[in-house]
Amino acid sequence: MRLTRREFLKLCSASAIGMGISQLFIPEVVEALEEAARGKPPVIWIQGAGDSGCSVSLLNTCHPSIAEVLLKIISLHYHPTLMASAGDLAVLYLDVISKKAKRNFFLVVEGAIPTGAEGRFCTIGARNGRHITLLEAVRDLGAKSKAVIALGTCATHGGIPSAKPNPTEARSVKEVIEGIPIINIPGCPSHPDWFVGTLVHVLLFGIPDLDNELRPKIFFSDTVHQNCSNYSYFNNGEFAKKFGDKGCLIQLGCKGAITNSDCPLRRWNSRVSWCVESGAPCIGCCSPGFPDLVSPLYTAIPEKLWPERESALV
Ligand code: SF4
Repeated sequence: MRLTRREFLKLCSASAIGMGISQLFIPEVVEALEEAARGKPPVIWIQGAGDSGCSVSLLNTCHPSIAEVLLKIISLHYHPTLMASAGDLAVLYLDVISKKAKRNFFLVVEGAIPTGAEGRFCTIGARNGRHITLLEAVRDLGAKSKAVIALGTCATHGGIPSAKPNPTEARSVKEVIEGIPIINIPGCPSHPDWFVGTLVHVLLFGIPDLDNELRPKIFFSDTVHQNCSNYSYFNNGEFAKKFGDKGCLIQLGCKGAITNSDCPLRRWNSRVSWCVESGAPCIGCCSPGFPDLVSPLYTAIPEKLWPERESALV
């Protein structure tokens, strides 16, 4: 079984099939991807200023098992939280893989990169008695890689570690390296489908179409608002005044109108629910300006940023 790019994009499109990618990895599809990905470049995953939430989010995929995805499909060779080795052995292994696969591996960066004090706020190990800063690792490994995937809003735009007053001077991946293709997959955390779908696309068909924030268009073209289950409430001017009320949550601080992601269609936790459906306003965690530009989180965005109501368009 061979998947065409068109078929794969259809699998990724929540609006087309109404299911998450993780649920779509039926054995035949896994087999096809595994075969296609055989001999493809390995993945090295490093972590910086963050809470490992994007790793945890990825580990929450149920179907197929995450081990199947990580070991068979995406060939994950280095991940500080998941691998057995640690300390000097891990650094040695990192050096060996990056040398062996030079210019032929993908680097995943999870977490922001502290640049203050020459990067010493965040180190990932030591070599010859000298600390290796994350800043140094991202630049060094990034320069040797085929492409860098910045995973989670901390890595894509600085996220919470770069919120004011940002004492560690945390930065995004694109602010510290240049000259290397970068794919941004935001989210706090990012959805497992966004990562797996992007990486499989990269392995099978090359870098997917990206928007001007370097995000894969297939996942981040629409705003949350456009596909929200409360959309008709918004159009009818029915707004929740307090948590638990029926109605659109914009007056309670929902940032869905200024946030691009397919959360309402893809849903979370194996498609159980998503923020707005659970009664919580979208906090704009996929927005480039999260968290400073979408704060206070539970205060309505200025009315000039509200989308037009359809009833008002006639
Ligand atoms: S403002 Fe928020 S709750 Fe209201 S329709 Fe848009 S996304 Fe949904």
